[in-house]
Amino acid sequence: MMTTAEISMELMTPQPHAVREVVKETPDTFTLTLQPQNGTGESSFQPGQFSMLWVFGVGELPISISGDPGTHDRLVYTVRSVGKATNALVSQKAGAGIGVRGPFGTGWPVEAARGQDLVIVAGGIGLAPLRPVIYHVLSHREEYDRLVLLYGARSPRDLLYRKELAAWARQRDTQVLITVDYGGLSWRHHVGVVTTLFKYARLRPAHSLAMLCGPEIMMRFVARDLEAHGLRRNQIYLSMERNMKCAVGFCGHCQYGPHFICKDGPVFPYDKIGPLMDKYEL
Ligand SMILES: Cc1cc2nc3c(=O)[nH]c(=O)nc-3n(C[C@H](O)[C@H](O)[C@H](O)COP(=O)(O)OP(=O)(O)OC[C@H]3O[C@@H](n4cnc5c(N)ncnc54)[C@H](O)[C@@H]3O)c2cc1C
Repeated sequence: MMTTAEISMELMTPQPHAVREVVKETPDTFTLTLQPQNGTGESSFQPGQFSMLWVFGVGELPISISGDPGTHDRLVYTVRSVGKATNALVSQKAGAGIGVRGPFGTGWPVEAARGQDLVIVAGGIGLAPLRPVIYHVLSHREEYDRLVLLYGARSPRDLLYRKELAAWARQRDTQVLITVDYGGLSWRHHVGVVTTLFKYARLRPAHSLAMLCGPEIMMRFVARDLEAHGLRRNQIYLSMERNMKCAVGFCGHCQYGPHFICKDGPVFPYDKIGPLMDKYEL
C-alpha cells in the first residue's frame, strides 16, 4: 500500500507527454492533442475533468479535457490564449514535450443522465469541457433521450468546432441552436445572448438534466431561466473556474466557501453551489 507521501508525490509529478498536433479553432483558440510518453501510453478521464498542464520554463495551468472519453491513446485540450501560460501552450510545435498531471476533479453526471433528455448550455470556451459529454452521448445514443445543445459565442469567427456542430445537428433526436452577440451580414442564425435560445429549445423539464459551462454571469442567468422552465436545482449542473495551484485540495488557492473547486468541483450541482454564487465577490 502506498503512503500518503507517495500518493502526494504521484499526484504532484507531471508525466511526460508529446504534442501530436495543434489545430487553430478561432483567432485566439487552439486544440492540442497530446500523447502519453510513458507507462502504457494510455489514459482515461471522466467528461468534465481537467488536467494540470506544465509548459516547461513557463508554468503550470488547469485546462479541461475536451476530447473523446472513449479514446485512450491521446488527451485533447482546447485552449484560449489569454496570457503567458496559455500563449506558450498554444505556440507549441508537434513533437514538443508537455508535463501532465491528473485528470482531476468531478465530472459531469453522465450516468445519472441516462434515460433522460440532456440539455447542454455553453458559452464561448465553455463548450470545451462539455464536448466529451456530447461524444459520450453520441456513442451511447440508445442510453439517452433527446440531446439539446444551446451554444453562444461572441461572433461567428469565435465559434468552436464548426464542422462538428453541423454534424451533431444532423444526428437523430438532437437539437443544436447557436447564437452570437454580433452576427454580420452573412450570419443566418440567431443573434443575442444564449438565454434567447430557450424559446426555440424543445425542452421537457421533468425529464431533463442540464449541464452548463461559460462565464459565471451567463451560468447564473441560464440557471435562473432553466428554473423558470421548471427544472429543479438538483437537475442543473455547472462547472466553476478559479485560480488553482496544486489541483488536489492541499493549497487552498481555489477555495470557494466550504469547497475546493479542484477536488469538490469543478462540476457542482446547482443546489449546492447556487447559494454561494449569489454572494458578492466570494
Ligand atoms: C478547472 C479549470 C478548467 C479550465 N479549462 C480551461 C480550458 O479548457 N481552456 C482554457 O482556455 N482555459 C481553461 N481554464 C482557464 C485557464 O486555466 C486560464 O486561462 C489560464 O490559467 C490563464 O493563464 P495565463 O498565464 O495564460 O494567463 P494569466 O497571465 O494568468 O492571465 C492573463 C489575463 O487573462 C485573464 N484571464 C485569466 N484566465 C482567464 C479566463 N479563463 N478567461 C478570461 N480571462 C482570463 C487574467 O485575468 C489576466 O488579465 C480553466 C481553468 C480552470 C480552473
